[in-house]
Order: sequence, then structure tokens, then C-alpha cells
Amino acid sequence: MRLSRYFLPILKENPREAEIVSHRMMLRAGMLRQQAAGSFTWLPLGKRVLDKVCQIIREEQNRAGAQEILMPTIQSADLWRESGRYDDYGKEMLRIKDRHERDMLYGPTNEEMVTDIFRSYVKSYRDLPLNLYHIQWKFRDEVRPRFGVMRSREFLMKDAYSFDLDYEGARAAYNRMFVAYLRTFTRMGLKAIPMRADTGPIGGDLSHEFIILASTGESAVFCEKKFLDLPVPSADVDFNNDAEIAGIVTEWTTPYAATEEMHQEDDWSSVPEDSRLSARGIEVGHIFHFGTKYSAPMKAAVTGPDGKEQLVSMGSYGIGPSRLIAAIIEASHDDNGIIWPEAVAPFHVALINMKAGDAACDAACEELYSKLWAAGVEVLYDDTDQRAGAKFATADLIGLPWQIIVGPRGIAAGEVELKNRATGERENLALKDVLERFG
Ligand code: ATP
Ligand code: MG
Ligand code: MG
Ligand code: MG
Repeated sequence: MRLSRYFLPILKENPREAEIVSHRMMLRAGMLRQQAAGSFTWLPLGKRVLDKVCQIIREEQNRAGAQEILMPTIQSADLWRESGRYDDYGKEMLRIKDRHERDMLYGPTNEEMVTDIFRSYVKSYRDLPLNLYHIQWKFRDEVRPRFGVMRSREFLMKDAYSFDLDYEGARAAYNRMFVAYLRTFTRMGLKAIPMRADTGPIGGDLSHEFIILASTGESAVFCEKKFLDLPVPSADVDFNNDAEIAGIVTEWTTPYAATEEMHQEDDWSSVPEDSRLSARGIEVGHIFHFGTKYSAPMKAAVTGPDGKEQLVSMGSYGIGPSRLIAAIIEASHDDNGIIWPEAVAPFHVALINMKAGDAACDAACEELYSKLWAAGVEVLYDDTDQRAGAKFATADLIGLPWQIIVGPRGIAAGEVELKNRATGERENLALKDVLERFG
């Protein structure tokens, strides 16, 4: 992509409405535009990041055995009347009527709809386990939408739903999602800590929120420091091996970690003082086992091995990709702008032509641009006639991992400058070696 043709509306000034760094930088870097309270357009640069985040989520969901579907955003109120949640959900639910005066709603979540899909087709235990997920827009009429996409009203969610014959099966399904989440967040360059979360009237211990530590987080959290060094399972972890997966979950749930609501002073005080981490955190994911909460009222049952009908045991597993992007920026930035982890960066390289119009600079840039793209390296080429200083500021602000700086003096010597955005390190590199470096 050439910057001269790219829709990247960079803001010079700090937008006054943005209270936290991620919101400020997303607006300044031309990733987002606010349309109304808590609703945003993802501009080209932001959309590229969103797609990368979703793709990582998708790959890890698939690896863990979940299958992608896509359910509608608008739902019929009747489904929600079956579960009893139409009245319980309250003002966060956006309620709509169609032209026939039928009650509809914009989905804040999809338990009812997916349970309806399940009960329409699945009749036997032989078809279990089953886990269906989608990545779809949600609407929640939050009392206080704020911090940009961190807490918006319309936001993207990956929500997965598992169906099993019994508690044992459901627990194994829960564990698979737990491990998939560890891998998902790590691939994005984040340390997310699974913390015990409230299970409400369902009871039990199968609810964890995945929390990113950040001073701007909305909840107070308490955990042991050892979480920061626990090994994350590799890509060849065997999701068919329940014992192996359960072992990983045990390792990750044994040290103390709890959000404010679940915090137990007694247990906390037995953690040695210098091992304690009490901080603020951002909920980027939440996994929850709820048994027959929906399958009972909605009559989602299968015949078991004994030929008897049995209600299925369910769980749901959410991740907020849009919030996640804000969390990544909260965790990875400096005074000059965003520092994207490689895996979610909108482009890998900013190719900066210091003297657009200079024949040698233009020729070197054009060649690098086409050869790098051909080698699969995503390049944003700053071919504009801005001053060098402004180009550097833009490149730092949008935070691509690498900058390749092409200037007349370097080119005369057959060299370019390579800058690492995260460390600030610079080195001169022979023009002919650039491709090899990124290849
Ligand atoms: P919160 O406690 O922040 O209100 P929640 O517990 O209501 O979130 P869940 O129902 O657990 O959210 O939804 C799953 C995930 O969806 C959350 O972990 C979060 O990443 C994301 N999410 C929820 N609400 C929002 C929102 N208003 N804006 C952006 N992302 C959200
Ligand atoms: Mg909420
Ligand atoms: Mg929550
Ligand atoms: Mg939650």
C-alpha cells in the first residue's frame, strides 16, 4: 500500500474526548472514527488489525476443535422468552420491533439462538462433543460507554458454545477453551492471566476471566507474580488428550488469581508478600460453564448411551476482539505512539522515502516495495512529499514493527537504514540484503 493513496486520516492534535492512551492513539493513528456514543467505524488501518486479531482467534478456536458459524445480529424475542432472559436482561438489551410489530432485539450474546440451532439437529450423544462459535457484532446499551472500543455499545465478540452429554464432558470442553485462550493471547504478544470469576447462581468453579494487567483497567485484580513466567502450551498441544489439557489447566489455576468480586483476603494473606501482584486489569475474555441453564428451559436433549434422554451440559466462551486491540495498545506503546506486536501489526514495514521525487530514492523504494510484497512482507510505502520529520512521526505513531529508511546519501552508498520500532535500534543495511533480512 502506498501512503499517498491510503486512507489514513492522522490527527495532529490529541482528541479531547479520549481519556486513555489506547483511545487517543487509535483516533490519532486514523484507525477509528466515533459515529455515536459507543459506536465506531474501523478505518483501513484499524480494520487490518481487527482482521489479524480475529484470524488468530479463529485459528486457535479451530485448533481446539470448535467450528465456525455465523449467526444473525437481530434475534427474535421469542427465543429469549423461552429462557426467561427477555425480561431479566434489562436495559443493556436493545429492543426493536419489525413492521409486523414483532419483538426483536439486537443480540448482546447468543446462548438462546445457538441452543435453538443445537436442539433442531442434534439428537444423539454420538454427535457430541460439539462446540460452535462465531465472530459477530454485539450490541449492549452500556450505562457508561467509554474509553473508545474498550467499552463500546456495538462491539465485536467471538463467542463459542459447547454441548456435552454430562459434566465430565463439559469440563473437558471448558479445559480445551481455557488452553486455546492461553495460546490466543500469547500469540498476540499479551500476558493474559486467567482469574477466578463469579459463577452466580450456577455455582462451581468453572468460570475464568482472562485479564490483561494495565493501570487503566476497570477492575482491581490480585494474583501471584509467578503467572508472568508460566509456560504457555505450544501449537502441538494435543487437544484430544483430556488428561494433558487438564494438566495445563491445573498448572494455570493453582496459583492465586482473582478479580475483586472473587477476592478472598484469607487465601491472599497466605501468599508471601513479595510474590503478590495487586494491580488493575482489563477483561479480554471470559469462559463459563453453566450446565443446563439453557438446555433445561429450551429442552435441548440427546439420547445417551443407555437410550434415555438427557439434557446437554453447556458452556460459553467469549473474547472481545475490539476491546483486545485497545488492551494491546495499553500494554505496548511509548510517548511517540503504538508499538504493534508483530503478529497483529497492520503492516510489517514502513518504507520511508526521505526524498520522494529523487530518481535514485524513488527507484530503490519501488524495487523494495514490490520485492518485499512479493516475498509476503506487508509494506506501507510512504511515498508522500511530506518532510522527513513528519514521516518519522507518522511511522512511530502507527507503530509498524520495522522502518526502512531510504535517503539519497545512503542510496549513493548502496545502503538503507533499518529501525526497530520497539527497541529504537538502528542499523545500516546494504540494499541487496534487505530482502534476505525479511524473507
Ligand atoms: P464487562 O465486565 O467488561 O462488562 P462482560 O463480563 O459483560 O464485560 P462478557 O459477557 O463476559 O462481558 O463478554 C465476553 C467478552 O466480550 C468480554 O470478556 C470482553 O472482552 C468483551 N466485551 C464485553 N462487553 C464489551 C463492551 N462493552 N465493549 C467491548 N468489549 C466488550
Ligand atoms: Mg458487561
Ligand atoms: Mg465482566
Ligand atoms: Mg464477563
